[in-house]
Amino acid sequence: MAWDFSTEPEFQEHLDWMRAFVREEIQPLETLINELEWDQMMRAMEPLREQVKERGLWAAHLDEELGGQGFGQVKLGLMHEILGTTPLAPFAFGNAAPDSGNSEILALAGTPEQKERYLHPLLEGDLKSAFSMTEPNSAGSDPTLLKTAAVKDGDDWVINGHKWFSSNGSIADFLIVMAVTDPDARKYQKASMFVVDVDTPGVEIVRDVPTMEHPQESWAKYGNHAEIVYENVRVPGSALLGAQGAGFLIAQQRLYPGRIHHCMRWLGVSKRAFDMLCEYAQLRETSAGKLAEKQTVQNWIADSAAQMDAARLMTLHAAWKMDTEGVAAARREISLIKFFGAEVLHDVIDRALQIHGSLGYSTDMPLEGMYRYARAARFYDGPDEVHRESVARQILRGYEAPADGVPTEHVPTRRAAAREKFSWLLEAVTSND
Ligand SMILES: Cc1cc2nc3c(=O)[nH]c(=O)nc-3n(C[C@H](O)[C@H](O)[C@H](O)COP(=O)(O)OP(=O)(O)OC[C@H]3O[C@@H](n4cnc5c(N)ncnc54)[C@H](O)[C@@H]3O)c2cc1C
Repeated sequence: MAWDFSTEPEFQEHLDWMRAFVREEIQPLETLINELEWDQMMRAMEPLREQVKERGLWAAHLDEELGGQGFGQVKLGLMHEILGTTPLAPFAFGNAAPDSGNSEILALAGTPEQKERYLHPLLEGDLKSAFSMTEPNSAGSDPTLLKTAAVKDGDDWVINGHKWFSSNGSIADFLIVMAVTDPDARKYQKASMFVVDVDTPGVEIVRDVPTMEHPQESWAKYGNHAEIVYENVRVPGSALLGAQGAGFLIAQQRLYPGRIHHCMRWLGVSKRAFDMLCEYAQLRETSAGKLAEKQTVQNWIADSAAQMDAARLMTLHAAWKMDTEGVAAARREISLIKFFGAEVLHDVIDRALQIHGSLGYSTDMPLEGMYRYARAARFYDGPDEVHRESVARQILRGYEAPADGVPTEHVPTRRAAAREKFSWLLEAVTSND
């Protein structure tokens, strides 16, 4: 029997250290986010980063030769569950998005020169990056419809297109751009990735798009989402990342593990909201008793616990499958956890916010921010509907309509078959002698 839900004691020690470190040293910094400029916050975190490096937990998503730990997805998942409890923790551990995902792409597909020029400084924190795929004028949930094109001109490529929601695009030093290079190729071989320096002529960062997360218009702040026009952007052949036409393949290698990390981080957020829910249930009283004594509240607590446990086991199982059978083998599991995890995150935060009433709606609690964060999880990185469709399609491949047009479990038909099959037995057990 190989089933095992335990964590190796040495790794559990790391997790215990991380949990205390994140709770005591990083979470309090969250409350100063509005007082400090972003680079001041990063400077304040420098000593914390040093501690993480000394502990050997820096950039753990990368392989050892790149300064990471080569932990694999199950261990990374358990780490991300702790990192998810505060938006600042991934910076202290060298795996904040989108730089972490972009570093994975560069590690996976970059040439030695690209690694030297972009990956190593990215890991050192000397460069910032963005991933530029989604377009305002094509459905991001079906990137095979991308319109941005890169056309070969001598040894160069010339890129034209319009992107938006390129997170960190306005503070990035370089952009990883997805563009169609082979319009007549098969669906998933049409696009390629390019590394484009942000100061290349023709790259215009139009604006940072105000969102539900950052409703006020702002410019060049960490976590903003840039709208970018690429107009006759000429890059050398060496800007191609990976093979021509391999854009979707590389994206898949990056997005699948990334979804495990998202889902585990969401569980970290959910657990924090759940703790607030349970604590407030014990704190708030009405004339008929504490909120904790109300059955509705008890249902919220039990349902949240069940949903979080289910999401956690499903996600760790997907991670285990990826570690043992490879990224592609976990496709169904990844789609399952993406929409299920986003729903759990939303539901738990919603209940926690509801129990706090006006306090939950106010910025005196972190719940309103968590709620806004949760809303986007249901469509970025693939909308719920697309993941549900993908899961259902994969499952349906294992079924076909019965040739005789009668459902396999149709009782009268089965009864007739059973009578025929067991006729001798029926005769024996129903005769009187
Ligand atoms: C916070 C945040 C950060 C982001 N960061 C980045 C980034 O760094 N780089 C980047 O390139 N992009 C980024 N995005 C964009 C994100 O990946 C896209 O929004 C996402 O892929 C969906 O694409 P779309 O917005 O074009 O929606 P569309 O594809 O237009 O879909 C709209 C809606 O249509 C419905 N729908 C779509 N397909 C189906 C279907 N098959 N069946 C039923 N319904 C369907 C869904 O409800 C969906 O929400 C970010 C988005 C957010 C919110």
